[in-house]
Parts: sequence; C-alpha cells; structure tokens
Amino acid sequence: MAQADIALIGLAVMGQNLILNMNDHGFVVCAFNRTVSKVHDFLNNEAKGTKVIGAESLEDMVSKLKKPRRILLLVKAGQAVDDFIDKLVPLLEPGDIIIDGGNSEYRDTTRRCKSLKEKNLLFVGSGVSGGEDGARYGPSLMPGGHKDAWPHIKDIFQSIAAKVGTGEPCCDWVGDEGAGHFVKMVHNGIEYGDMQLICEAYHLMKDVLCMDHDEMAQAFDQWNKTELDSFLIEITANILKFKDADGTHLLPKIRDSAGQKGTGKWTAISALEYGTPVTLIGEAVFARCLSSLKDERVQASKSLTGPQARTICDNQALYASKIISYAQGFMLLRQAAVEFGWSLNYGAIALMWRGGCIIRSVFLGKIKEAFDRNSELQSLLLDNFFSKAVQDCQDSWRGVVSTGVQQGIPMPCFTTALSFYDGYRHEMLPANLLQAQRDYFGAHTYELLSNPGKFNHTNWTGHG
Ligand code: NAP
Repeated sequence: MAQADIALIGLAVMGQNLILNMNDHGFVVCAFNRTVSKVHDFLNNEAKGTKVIGAESLEDMVSKLKKPRRILLLVKAGQAVDDFIDKLVPLLEPGDIIIDGGNSEYRDTTRRCKSLKEKNLLFVGSGVSGGEDGARYGPSLMPGGHKDAWPHIKDIFQSIAAKVGTGEPCCDWVGDEGAGHFVKMVHNGIEYGDMQLICEAYHLMKDVLCMDHDEMAQAFDQWNKTELDSFLIEITANILKFKDADGTHLLPKIRDSAGQKGTGKWTAISALEYGTPVTLIGEAVFARCLSSLKDERVQASKSLTGPQARTICDNQALYASKIISYAQGFMLLRQAAVEFGWSLNYGAIALMWRGGCIIRSVFLGKIKEAFDRNSELQSLLLDNFFSKAVQDCQDSWRGVVSTGVQQGIPMPCFTTALSFYDGYRHEMLPANLLQAQRDYFGAHTYELLSNPGKFNHTNWTGHG
C-alpha cells in the first residue's frame, strides 16, 4: 500500500541525515540503498523508533510511494546518478519526480532534465549545503530543474531547510535546468574564497604580527561580533583554541597541503568559459594547488629567501576582500542567467545561503537587502551600502596588502581582490594598448572611443 511521502536512495551520511530530518518534520520516508543490507542496518539503528520505512528493491520502493512519486537521490555524483535514473524510468509514470540532491555538475543536470522531459518525468537537481549537521537539522537547499515539480516538493524542502530571521526557509526555487546545481557550485566556489581569505589573515597574524594562538583566537572571536559574523570565522576561532591530548595546539601540527573535490575548480572553469572576472575564486583554487606541492616547497624554502622583519591587523582587509568575492560570485550567476536564459532571483539566492550552509553569515542578509533595493543590481559594488563599506575599509586594506607583499607573505586572494577593485573602478584601463598590439600583429581590429561598434585596422608599420 502506498504510504510514503517520499523515497530517498543513498544511505551514506547525507542521505541518512536528510531522512531523519524529514521524519522529524512529519514526512514518511522510504529508504533504499544499492547495498540493501544498509537499509536494514539503518532501520535497526539510526532510524529505530521513527516512521521511516525501508525497501528491498526499487520496485518495492516505488510501490510504497504516494503519487506523484517523489524520489530523492543522495548518491555519489556522476555515473551512479545516471544508473539509478535508468533503472527508475521504467518503473515510473508521467508526472513522477526524480530529485538529485548530490553534488552533480550543472551540465549533467541540464542533460538529465532534457532527457527525462522527453519521458514525461519531472527532474530536479538540488544543491544541498551544510554537510552532515545541515542535512540533519536544516540544510540550505537550492532546487532547480522542471518547475512543475516545485509545488509537489516545496512543502518538504522548505520544512526541512534551515530557517533564518522570522523563520524564512533557506530554500527557494532557483530556476530551470541545472540552475540549482550552478548556484550550489558558485556557493562552493565562494566557500573556497572565504576559507582562503581567512587563511591569509591567519598567515599574516602568525608570521608578521607574531601573534600566538590565543591572541589570534581572540581576534577572530572579536571579528565574529562585527560585520564578519559568520560560521567560518566562528569555527576558525575554535580551531585556533583547540588543544591536542598532549595539551599543545593541534593546528600547527596539521600538514599544510589542502585537498579539493572539484567544485571550486568548476566555478573557476565556468568563470573562464563565460568571461567573468571571478579572480578571487580562481586564486583560491590555485592556492590549494600550490599548498599541495608540499615537498617541492620544502625544497624551495631552503634556497629561496624572503624579506626580514615585521607590523597592522584589523578585520577591514578581510571584509573588503570578502565583498569583492561575493560581488564576483554574483557576477558569474548573472552571466550564467544570460547564457542559459535562466531567470534567477539573486536576493532569494542570498537568503538561501544566509543559513544552513558553510558560507552562512550575517553579511548575506546585507546582500539580500541590496537586491531587495534593486533586483536588477549589476554589481554589489554599485550598491551604496557595499560601495561605502569598501570605501571605509580601503586604507586599511591597502596597508595590509602592501605589508604582506613587503614582508613576503603570499596573499593571492587579498591581492587579487584589491586588483579587481582597482580594475573595476577605473574608467580607463590599458586595454587600448592591448587592442593596438592585437591589431598590429594579427589585424584583429580595434574600436575608437569616439565610435564604438565600428572596427578599424591600422597598418602600424607603414609597410604595404
Ligand atoms: P557518497 O560517499 O558521496 O556516496 C555514497 C552513496 O552512493 C552510497 O549510498 C553508495 O551506495 C552510493 N553509490 C556509490 N557509487 C554507486 C554506484 N556506482 N551505483 C549506485 N550507488 C552508488 O555519500 P555522501 O557523502 O552522503 O554524499 C551524497 C551526495 O551528496 C554526493 O553527491 C555528495 O557529493 C553530496 N554532498 C555531500 C556532502 C557531505 O558533506 N558529505 C555535502 C553536500 C553534498 P553503497 O552503499 O551501495 O556503496
């Protein structure tokens, strides 16, 4: 007998926690997993005493679902998603809904949307952020795909999502095709940027200001009471305070070689693809790559010397750089909306990221307000609140960047943020020379300021 509101396939960490979250909110969930023994384990342990039911096979699972059937996949991104879709299609009826909540590449989601539409099935690709804790107690959810599915899943999604302010859910419909996964990808890219900026501030505090762990923790605790109030600043203070079993700080013992799973890289690739200057996320990805050359760096450190000595530290360089990073992230979303014809609600996206996810912060509330003031805002830097904030931070920001450069501290994200800002605020850039060079060697033509749209070529050498 059909009794379950939704099925969830994939009983690893995310799937299990999302099921328990849905159960808490009164939904009956049918659990399934490729390795079926995990269904039994889950029902007998984590889900014991809940209303969660299990299935022995996909056929069994489908038979237990109310119509239209809602099936949420939380499996390894890539082939596993396609394999499950292929197996589900013959078991479903027109109007049934498949949702992919994994970290899928947005183009895969667009492809799956198109192919399932031909079979009269509705497909949703939803970004899910917040890790294990978020999945259990309130993630940020970014669904996109076939909009006809939204009325059927809205209640479940908005019930289980994180809430901010007066109970507003961190979940709203994002847009067509792979828009949900695109927004999740940019979220992850921004997460890369935020983390790298914090690491650069830490490096400067440690090696230039010679602050000890307690002093640094105090500074981050203090910054968490300012406009930088955010999950990542909060956990940084906690990490700095953390002591190992032997009573010494754990942080300096951790190998400085950063891992990555690819979503930052995808954001940077998209930025290159769509010609959007998302420099900060690109630098954050490269900074991880450089960190992973640990053995090579150890070698280099023995022969390549830097400057001696030391000096300022406040939160303004971090705040200004963070504003640039988010401005760039939203530029990429705007460009994707143009490329794919998506109608994206930028204020709603900021609200989705406001709670539940890794980049959650008070700051995102300010971004939402900026888009509430002007939904067509071209860049956050053109909003009065943010332009004034950057203006107010400017002296300190430049001071920190030049101190870091003079003291030999690598700060790729602080410096690229400042370079972007300086590039963006210049009415005239030296690209006139670049255009002349291109025309000189390749006859690529150029426009005159006085006559845009008309392309000229000059015989620069005077030779015929
Ligand atoms: P995961 O380790 O990415 O995937 C494990 C699940 O995928 C298991 O249910 C496994 O089934 C199934 N699976 C793997 N390969 C399969 C295949 N070839 N065919 C069928 N099933 C296959 O699990 P996770 O960490 O919970 O993440 C689930 C999804 O959410 C992923 O896309 C992940 O990127 C995304 N995500 C994760 C986090 C996080 O913090 N972990 C946060 C946001 C999003 P078996 O048990 O049979 O092996």
